[in-house]
Amino acid sequence: MNRVSLEALLTDPASSAAPGGLRELLPPLTQHEALTESARCLMCYDAPCTHACPTHIDIPRFIKKISTGNLLGSARTILTANLLGATCARVCPVQELCEGACVLGSEHKPIAIGRLQRYAMDHIYGKRIAIFQPAKPTGKKVAVVGAGPAGLTCAGELAKLGHTVTLYEKRDLGGGLSTYGIIVLREPVEVALAEVQMVQRLGVRLETGKEVGVNIDAADLQKDFDAVFVSVGLGNTPQLGIPGEEYILDGLQYIEGSKHQPSQLRVGRNVIVIGAGNTAIDCATIARRLGAERVTMVYRRTENEMTAYPHEYDFVKHEGVTFWFLAQPIKVHHENGLVHALECVRISLAEPDASGRPSPKPIPGSTMLLPADQIVKAIGQHKPTLASLLNLQTESGFIQVDEEFETSCPGIFAGGDCIRARGSASTVMAVEDGKLAARSIHQRLVQNG
Ligand SMILES: Cc1cc2nc3c(=O)[nH]c(=O)nc-3n(C[C@H](O)[C@H](O)[C@H](O)COP(=O)(O)OP(=O)(O)OC[C@H]3O[C@@H](n4cnc5c(N)ncnc54)[C@H](O)[C@@H]3O)c2cc1C
Ligand code: SF4
Repeated sequence: MNRVSLEALLTDPASSAAPGGLRELLPPLTQHEALTESARCLMCYDAPCTHACPTHIDIPRFIKKISTGNLLGSARTILTANLLGATCARVCPVQELCEGACVLGSEHKPIAIGRLQRYAMDHIYGKRIAIFQPAKPTGKKVAVVGAGPAGLTCAGELAKLGHTVTLYEKRDLGGGLSTYGIIVLREPVEVALAEVQMVQRLGVRLETGKEVGVNIDAADLQKDFDAVFVSVGLGNTPQLGIPGEEYILDGLQYIEGSKHQPSQLRVGRNVIVIGAGNTAIDCATIARRLGAERVTMVYRRTENEMTAYPHEYDFVKHEGVTFWFLAQPIKVHHENGLVHALECVRISLAEPDASGRPSPKPIPGSTMLLPADQIVKAIGQHKPTLASLLNLQTESGFIQVDEEFETSCPGIFAGGDCIRARGSASTVMAVEDGKLAARSIHQRLVQNG
């Protein structure tokens, strides 16, 4: 896909190479809107929004700086706490985080914190302003494995402190799920790539197409570097284990296609999406926006147990997506390679299972056929495999770390989705892990002299 530069995109959003239905959903604030919105902020003392932000950006401070026209200072305040402020401004579930805590939310509208953050970030990226400079080298070497939000942040923060960082990434582009997994409606690829370049400009050496455990020996990292940070995220979509599964599309690849090769992505007329998390919602949104007449999400529990955020659920219903709850896929019906239906069995909910949610029990003799010409599954991601290669202890398949983000192997630290054994994962949490792990690694390198 031919991309426009981020500068051009920020000046004229219509210049995006993405199909119209897949352009960034929210327009940027105008100067007038940003000034008016920032003037509404009460500048609370001990601001609840700052507590609610996982990276604890000093929100009243950056908003105050916007209101006085000091966009550079505003951007510096944001980036000091959160190096990926441009991505987070777009992808954070702000309703659940900073904006959800805004005191104005109870009686009026909360301050549009995410959009103001984006306003300050777009200013510096649009003008190619570098806020931080590389520091004097310390002579210490750190390897970071995986260039998603956690790895980029850790690498960037370490480079700011003068350490020599090599960032290994198995894909062709850095950015992790911001580049490959988050739909363009929320974040254009160009924004994620601009942040990758910003980290490289801090002196981080990014080696793409290098998969640790495949073409880089995991054990060599321990020998060649003073510390290692593992931020490999999670793996592919797991199998459902049903007949005809080979005709079901992988939701992560579906989204990736919509971001990088939208003109080549075949979208059915009658699409079923299996799952009810945020990724499933994103797949359903893409299918609708790229022309599917009917999109149905199939989930074996009810809306009470869905893992998607409530605002995402509302959004996708407004997009015209419908739901089949309490239905479990058991077989794909196809002919000559073409899908024509998904067979499901009805479910009743029983005692909670290991996840704490009611366990789905198939109702004998209750099968039904749901017509479909395309089926996409978005039912989570495999656990990280690198943990076993490095002999790291795990918890439910996730890498175990202590409060310093150090794994069971001294000198190897980890963060991001690969350690998130509990609760939902998000970009801003991965950024915070990367930042805190960089501090721990720095402390260790300084102590070791
Ligand atoms: C479809 C989807 C939509 C999402 N939407 C949102 C959203 O709107 N808002 C939000 O806050 N969060 C969202 N998330 C969650 C968010 O994207 C993740 O929490 C975040 O990207 C985690 O960052 P990470 O750095 O831990 O992992 P990742 O972003 O997964 O990055 C890991 C990187 O490591 C690389 N890697 C893996 N193994 C190796 C290896 N052996 N050697 C070298 N490199 C390796 C991978 O290629 C990848 O680039 C979404 C997730 C998905 C799947
Ligand atoms: S990083 Fe996310 S949660 Fe924090 S202030 Fe910005 S938009 Fe809100």
